[in-house]
Amino acid sequence: MNVDQIRRTINDELYIEGVGLHSGNKTYLLCKPAPPYTGILFTRESKYPGEFIEAIAENVVDTSLAVTLGNGKWRVQTIEHLMSALHMLGITDIFIDTSNIEIPILDGSAGEFIQQFQQIGIRNYPDDIIEGITIKNPIWVIDGDKYLIALPANHFEVSYNIHFEHPLLKGQNYHAVIDRNHFLEEIARARTFGFLSQVEYLKSKGLALGGSIENAIVLDDKGYLNPSLRYENECVRHKVLDLIGDLSLTGRPILGHIIANKAGHALDVAMAKKILKIDKENQFTSKQIRNYQSVRMLDPISSSAVH
Ligand SMILES: [Zn+2]
Repeated sequence: MNVDQIRRTINDELYIEGVGLHSGNKTYLLCKPAPPYTGILFTRESKYPGEFIEAIAENVVDTSLAVTLGNGKWRVQTIEHLMSALHMLGITDIFIDTSNIEIPILDGSAGEFIQQFQQIGIRNYPDDIIEGITIKNPIWVIDGDKYLIALPANHFEVSYNIHFEHPLLKGQNYHAVIDRNHFLEEIARARTFGFLSQVEYLKSKGLALGGSIENAIVLDDKGYLNPSLRYENECVRHKVLDLIGDLSLTGRPILGHIIANKAGHALDVAMAKKILKIDKENQFTSKQIRNYQSVRMLDPISSSAVH
């Protein structure tokens, strides 16, 4: 089955502003169309002109609270919701100039990114292809009772289970074949979530300063502090959104069934790296087999050895 997709960029420049979840500071992005095969490149022209960080797994430098990319000199953090939006809209080539270290949190989901990209418009590069990755054999990453498994499948499919010591989140699960429409309807608007005690602790450490019920689901001991939820099981759906953003750091669409139990950014990024490593080995092996076969066909000595 073919998983390759055509490459896409945005129609015009797009300015997105909001606050950083952790810094609480105002932050903005200036997104610009890019030629085919550029990839997704973060820049910070005001401070590091001419430099960029590509949104790929090997540039991840931290996964503790959010996904952070870095190049040794500067960083860009909390990229996952933006990455999820770009990936599911099929935007493969774009420059994203950042005003400081954080991507704006907006409403805590991918919904507002999606809306703004759709408003500015998305353009196809019909002659330019991004090659997909097909999961051929099971691949897994494990950390105690947390794990991610990728299995061969005819679709991109996710089964996700979360479990927290909280009456509402003792077990929430979600399973679906996820294409663009499904994502837009069922996943994109699911907001990030946190526990009040944890948010207060993070704030005392100078983190999550921009976090509020405006951009996150917050739970106290008894229930949700937000007046309403956007979906049933919104928390596990947000974990699916994060997973898709993190796996997009392979830089390629994936054909396979991802099974997740209590996973998070660290495991997601480890899985993205493992999928890439195995795909590279497979390509290398099939190239070797092809070369070996052509050598045997051309080489009379080897050929005669067959008889
Ligand atoms: Zn998230």
